[in-house]
Amino acid sequence: MQAEAVIEKFRKTGALLEGHFVLTSGLHSQVYLQCALVLQRPNDAEEFGRSIAQHFQTANIQTVASPAIGGIVIGYEVARALGARFIWTERQEGAMILRRGFSVSAGEKILVVEDVVTTGGSTRETVTALQAKGAEVVAAASIIDRSGAKADVGVPRIALATLDVPAVDPAVCELCKRGEPAVKPGSRKTI
Ligand SMILES: [Zn+2]
Repeated sequence: MQAEAVIEKFRKTGALLEGHFVLTSGLHSQVYLQCALVLQRPNDAEEFGRSIAQHFQTANIQTVASPAIGGIVIGYEVARALGARFIWTERQEGAMILRRGFSVSAGEKILVVEDVVTTGGSTRETVTALQAKGAEVVAAASIIDRSGAKADVGVPRIALATLDVPAVDPAVCELCKRGEPAVKPGSRKTI
């Protein structure tokens, strides 16, 4: 899947909005991504999953692991395409851990998959949690990388499309300086 086709699918489903936004972090950005919207249709999710899986056909991936909640749908589809097992990590008292009886074995080859990499924090924490259990984390992947390829997650990483859309402190936001009102997408009514 070409990067342009990925972005086009995001635009069509309203998963990529352009304007002046307040992100959950409180930072301002000209791009807002809501991956859940582009993954609403299983056929689309499956296509993204196959595209990511193509990069790892010869990597002998045994397990795909994703940080909850954002990574679960796409991670599951990547695992399906690779014929691999799928597990997820989740946050408990601030730490990213395996719960629900999920376990990994020493040397198990794992691919970590997320929907969007912004700073790479969730992916990096998942990589670290799995390595601490003795697994071999081969690589990481996401549908979108919005860090301009700058995020470092501690293992090699690919994305289907890369955007360079900095999130900035409101104090230094160019759009704020121009007096343009910022929108919080979750609270906006759309038709
Ligand atoms: Zn702003």
